[in-house]
Amino acid sequence: MSTAFDIVVLPGDGIGIEVTDAALAVLDRAQARFGFRLAHDRRPGGAHLYKDTGIAFPDASMRASERADAILFGAMGWPDIRYPDGTEIAPQLDLRVALDLYAGVRPIRAIPGLPLPLAAPEAAKIDFVIVRESTEGWFHARGQGRRVTNAAGDEAVQDTCEISRRGCERLFDFAFRLAERRARRDPAKGRVTLIDKSNVFLGMAFMNAVFRERAARYPRIAADHCYIDAYCLNLIRKPWDYDVCPMENQFGDITSDLGAGLVCGMGYAPSADIGDRHALFQPSHGSAPDIAGRGIANPTAAILSAAMMLDWLGERRDAPHLCDAARSIEAAVDTVFRERRVRPADIGGGDGTGAVTRAICEALR
Ligand code: ATP
Repeated sequence: MSTAFDIVVLPGDGIGIEVTDAALAVLDRAQARFGFRLAHDRRPGGAHLYKDTGIAFPDASMRASERADAILFGAMGWPDIRYPDGTEIAPQLDLRVALDLYAGVRPIRAIPGLPLPLAAPEAAKIDFVIVRESTEGWFHARGQGRRVTNAAGDEAVQDTCEISRRGCERLFDFAFRLAERRARRDPAKGRVTLIDKSNVFLGMAFMNAVFRERAARYPRIAADHCYIDAYCLNLIRKPWDYDVCPMENQFGDITSDLGAGLVCGMGYAPSADIGDRHALFQPSHGSAPDIAGRGIANPTAAILSAAMMLDWLGERRDAPHLCDAARSIEAAVDTVFRERRVRPADIGGGDGTGAVTRAICEALR
C-alpha cells in the first residue's frame, strides 16, 4: 500500500494563490502527523497567464493534471481579462469536461462558533451536500450558443440544455453512495433529494424518471424530489432538513453560492469535482479581485477542500490514515472557530490568511 501521492497544484489567479498556499501549509502539517507523503507539482494556468501569453491553460498543465493522483486548485478567472467573445477565462470548466469530473460535491456545513445569518437554533445543524452535475445541463451550451431569428422575426440567441441518461445515472449513483457513507457516520443522515423543474422541462422530467429508477437500487436510502424554486425557499426556511441534493449543473452553480451564504459565505464552502478516474479539489469561491493581494482572504474553504482531497485519496487507495487526517483537519477548523481563536475579516474580524492558517495548523492533532 503506497502512501505517497503526486498532487498537481494549480493556484491560478487572485486569492486562489493565497488560499492554496494556506492549504499546502496545513497539508504539510498533516503529512508529518499522519505519516503520508504528497509530492507537489505546481503548474501555471488562469486569466493572468492568458493575458501574458495568450494561453489560459497550457497543454503541459493539462497532461500533468491527467497524470496526477489528485488536483489541488485555487481559483481561475479575472473580470477584466476575457476571451474575444466576451466570456471569462475559466479553465476549471474545461478541466471538468476534459477529465470527466461529473460530480461537483459542495458540502454546506455550519462550522460551530460562526455568526450564521439564520437566527433559528436549528441553523447550527445545517449539514447537507449539493451534488452538481458538472459536464452537461445548461453548461452544455457553453461555447455553442446559436444566434437565430426567432418566430417573431427578432434577433435571439439559443443556449440548449442537454440531460443524458448516462449523465443522470452516474450522478445519482454517486449521490446515493455518498448518502450511504454519510448514514454510516450519522444515522440521522441517509436521504437523497433530487432538485429539478420536472413540471416544466422535458429534460428535467427525464432526469426525474431516471432518478426514480436509480433510487430503487438503494432501498436503505430515502429518496424524494423538490422543485428548484421551492428548494430555494426551503434553503432559507429549513436548510437543516436536507442531506444529499443532486441537481442539474446550472442549478448547482447557483444554489451552491446560496448554500455558502447560509454558512457565513464563500470563505467557508469547500468543493470537489469528482469523476471515476480523476478528482479536483478547490474552494467554491473564485479569485475575488476585490480582496486579492491584501492578505485577508479566508483560507478555510481551501483547507477544507484539501481535507476532502485526503478523504477521497484515502477511500480510493485504501489508506484509512488519510481519511483520519481529513477528519482531523475538519476537527481543527471546528476547534479554532468554536473556541474563537480567530475571527477572519469576512465575519468582521482582524485575522488574515496567515493567522487563520497558523491557528488551524496549531489545532491539528
Ligand atoms: P466566480 O465568478 O469565479 O465564482 P466571483 O468573482 O463571482 O467568482 P467570488 O470570487 O467567488 O466571486 O467571491 C465573491 C465575493 O466573496 C468576493 O468578491 C469576496 O468579497 C468574497 N469572498 C470570496 N471568497 C472569499 C474568501 N476566501 N475570503 C473572504 N472573502 C471571500
